[in-house]
Amino acid sequence: MGVKKTDIVLLDDKGIRCDGRKIDEPRNIMIKAGVLKNANGSAYIEFGENKILAGVFGPRDVHPKHLANTDRGILRCRYHMEPFSVSERKNPAPSRREIEISKVIKEALEPAVMLENFPRTVVDVYIEVLQADGGSRCAALDAAAVALADAGIPMRDMVSACAAGKVADTIVLDINNEEDQEGQADMPVAYMPNLEKVTLLQLDGVLTPAEYKKCIETAINGCKIVYEIQKKALKDKFFGDMSP
Ligand code: ADP
Repeated sequence: MGVKKTDIVLLDDKGIRCDGRKIDEPRNIMIKAGVLKNANGSAYIEFGENKILAGVFGPRDVHPKHLANTDRGILRCRYHMEPFSVSERKNPAPSRREIEISKVIKEALEPAVMLENFPRTVVDVYIEVLQADGGSRCAALDAAAVALADAGIPMRDMVSACAAGKVADTIVLDINNEEDQEGQADMPVAYMPNLEKVTLLQLDGVLTPAEYKKCIETAINGCKIVYEIQKKALKDKFFGDMSP
């Protein structure tokens, strides 16, 4: 018997998850850079059933002016879910959750963006979640980082994000919506893959110290997989599709 909660078998006897994945397998990820004509940089991501667009403007003058910083540029991020992005119509007004996610995305991207090169300016990142399926903050971050690079904003490193979590007492990579609702822990992680620095770590749930370590390692492995896909998206945009 697999471990069963409500009517979903989260993990069966053979270690296969409710959507057919193995424990260390991410969902399908597709990223396309430069999808919007009017933004300075943009990206579209499909991460499992998540569908998310990110558009970047800047560096440009700050309005209102009193927000400008004379030493360095500022980064602003808005994560927004479309009313049709979840099964029940979502109120289009920003929710507490969207305000929180906007803040953590900004803080996860900030260490990578060389804002010191652009005093008195702002870089704006707009993220529209067209369809949400668990792990949308990580997918949004992945698209936003590619959009920043697509805009030609100087960066110290890419930022790659992926969650890991605990499902049926097992640490698994890339939690989907069912696993998020029914599982025991969800840990979104963002990571600069060359500098080997974590820029976001959240944890919803309870883990032992050993599980915590395993969960971070699992999530970082996921970030490394995402990084390769982000690089390919940028190469395809600037040098054409290089796939065989
Ligand atoms: P993340 O998307 O980063 O995992 P949460 O853990 O807060 O963030 O949300 C998990 C999932 O719950 C979302 O991806 C989405 O599918 C669903 N969800 C979030 N907000 C709503 C909402 N207002 N109505 C219905 N489902 C929602």
